[in-house]
Amino acid sequence: MIPLEQAQEYVLQQCATGSPKRRSSRSSLGLVLAEEVLTAEDVPPFDNTAMDGFAIRSEDTLETPKTLEIVGTIAAGSTPNFTLHSGQAARIMTGAPLPVGADSVVMVELTRVEGNYVTIEKVIPEGNHIRRAGEDLQAGQVVFKKGGVLTPTHLGVLASIGCTQVSIFPPLKVGVVSTGDELVEGEVPLQPGQIRDSNRHSLLALLNDLGLEGVDLGLIPDEEEAIEEVFRSACSGESRCDVVISSGGVSMGDFDFVKVVLDRLGDMRWMQVAIKPAKPLAFGLVENVPVFGLPGNPVSSIVSFELFVRPALRKMMGHTDIWSSKIKAVAESPISRRPDEKTHFARVKVSLADGGYKVQSAGGQGSHQLSAMAEANALAVLPDGNGVESGDVVEIILLHQLTRDLNAS
Ligand code: AMP
Ligand code: MG
Repeated sequence: MIPLEQAQEYVLQQCATGSPKRRSSRSSLGLVLAEEVLTAEDVPPFDNTAMDGFAIRSEDTLETPKTLEIVGTIAAGSTPNFTLHSGQAARIMTGAPLPVGADSVVMVELTRVEGNYVTIEKVIPEGNHIRRAGEDLQAGQVVFKKGGVLTPTHLGVLASIGCTQVSIFPPLKVGVVSTGDELVEGEVPLQPGQIRDSNRHSLLALLNDLGLEGVDLGLIPDEEEAIEEVFRSACSGESRCDVVISSGGVSMGDFDFVKVVLDRLGDMRWMQVAIKPAKPLAFGLVENVPVFGLPGNPVSSIVSFELFVRPALRKMMGHTDIWSSKIKAVAESPISRRPDEKTHFARVKVSLADGGYKVQSAGGQGSHQLSAMAEANALAVLPDGNGVESGDVVEIILLHQLTRDLNAS
């Protein structure tokens, strides 16, 4: 067996960050910037009003009430072609530029209008309700740094500075295949010995969770030819993927042909990692495409994804923080295990209580008990030994966006 960190290092070493590409900003949600973004424009581009009301000269309101003559109306999108003189006011709509001479805005709610005249009851200070040019962003400034992740709001900011193309690390095409003679898909009645394929569905969804579109490479039986065909086409030619993930067939069974085939096709390493679940891991390059052979047990394949595939994909996607958040939590009840020289990753539920995190087991800890994994939102890291007692502090790895957000808040 090899330590987890050694296996992770081996995998990461061979997963290189992609080459930057230019891409339309609007289709770059979730991608990582490969270059800083500068703005050539001020945002807002001109001084404008934050309120519907009247543009005035503030000095006119030093004595109130004050009645001013309404000399024009300025709509958002128009440009005032007059100068505002003392004793005058102009109707102005939110977002419209101020006329020359005006230095303040009074909101419509604080005025009384009679015919062509408006009366202002209060002293209005200079600059009232004016949004200055460049108050959000100034021409020439760095808007986003290299390595930043584009969120929906980032796309809004890019649009606000007229930046329609960005240099990003391109999204990855990741193929997912399930292997096993016993597997079937969909609602068909199960024949004796058959089970339904779940791994491909979990793994494709985990890719979505990372902001990637997975490529469904289907379900293949434990037959060398079929397995070889799928890997060959996923690692070369037009259907070439950037990464391929398979599950099943990497253990010690008589029909674990994934091992046999991948050894023939590429430069693979077969690892027994000192962890539970997910001890067996195959990783290597086939025609330079990183290939992960994950174990078949449903929980193992997901834990293996979290420990090896997610950080590798994040590195390839250009992320600088590739590891899932680890935090400390207090065990609400014992989480037991037996010494076996492995680190265990127990499926747990974490919640926030009294300003700290507490965890409890999410249910059955067998590597076939997928429903307990579904209940879990974290993995508790249990070093070799007897586990933790109630009240002990335990390190946990957060699994879902929800809990990552919980962590951030
Ligand atoms: P293997 O790694 O192929 O020896 O499979 C280990 C266990 O996981 C077996 O009980 C398989 O039936 C099960 N298994 C393998 N692949 C899948 C899958 N795609 N979905 C659900 N269970 C699977
Ligand atoms: Mg199998």
